[in-house]
Amino acid sequence: MIKFENFTFYYPDTRNPALKEINLQIHDGEFVLVSGSSGSGKSSLCRCLNGLIPHFYGGRVKGKVEIQGLNVLENSTNKLAEKVGVVFQDPENQIVTMEVEREIAFGMENLGFPKSLILKRIEETLDTVGISHLRHKNVHELSGGEKQKVAIASVLALHPEVLVLDEPTSQLDPKSSEEILMLLEKLNNELGITVLLVEHRLERVVHYVDRLIIMDEGKIVCDGKPREVFNDDLPSKIGVAVPPIVKLAKRLRKEGFPVNGIPLSIKEARITLSRLPK
Ligand code: ADP
Ligand code: MG
Repeated sequence: MIKFENFTFYYPDTRNPALKEINLQIHDGEFVLVSGSSGSGKSSLCRCLNGLIPHFYGGRVKGKVEIQGLNVLENSTNKLAEKVGVVFQDPENQIVTMEVEREIAFGMENLGFPKSLILKRIEETLDTVGISHLRHKNVHELSGGEKQKVAIASVLALHPEVLVLDEPTSQLDPKSSEEILMLLEKLNNELGITVLLVEHRLERVVHYVDRLIIMDEGKIVCDGKPREVFNDDLPSKIGVAVPPIVKLAKRLRKEGFPVNGIPLSIKEARITLSRLPK
């Protein structure tokens, strides 16, 4: 479980907190989508989960963050890396070696895994992520989508219980983005890994996540099942990119059409529309 208790964080030399009084519990196996406008604190929230906040960024902290029973303030980033894997926006910044296989081995070597286990895990993660054919390729020659898959494989190799991804598709073309998002769905469904995904383009993922969290000015302002969150007008008011089908359903409802339940996918939208009086 991930647990934030009255957690407030200020970056060094700043007057306003980047995270304000965060209270949040995420249970094992949940798929949680986090959205909110730029500067609302999404990346800061992610940085708490692998201990970059506060161990790397410094700053002032109030309250507590716990991940899989480990207090983030009291445990090293290495210790936390065994429980939680974090993937950032730009795959370029995460690459530390030349060859895909070496890249995946790197984290495990750092944590002192025995050689035989490293080899086994390389095979296994290449297979899970579907990039066995890239094993001996130069990481720098890969496409953005392939690099991001390597970044995900590198953290998966450590068998994390939680995977945190901060806008992992924002630099990718639509096809690679779709592949990454499908991979996350599979990791959550089949391996039971808890996923916390920061993503702007909600329509791509909202139909399979368990929960949607909206942040604004360092605070969590909405938290619930996507349909419940979209029932509220707050997300659109604060500039969240509410999926077009959700907007359509809400407009129809405002105009007096009997729209029950907000559709989250094209399929659901078709059903909703087919039920409207002709
Ligand atoms: P988001 O990811 O939602 O865009 P961030 O977590 O990056 O939001 O930022 C939240 C707030 O913290 C913003 O006001 C931002 O300017 C500030 N901030 C982010 N990173 C730093 C940093 N390294 N130093 C100082 N302030 C920062
Ligand atoms: Mg960010």
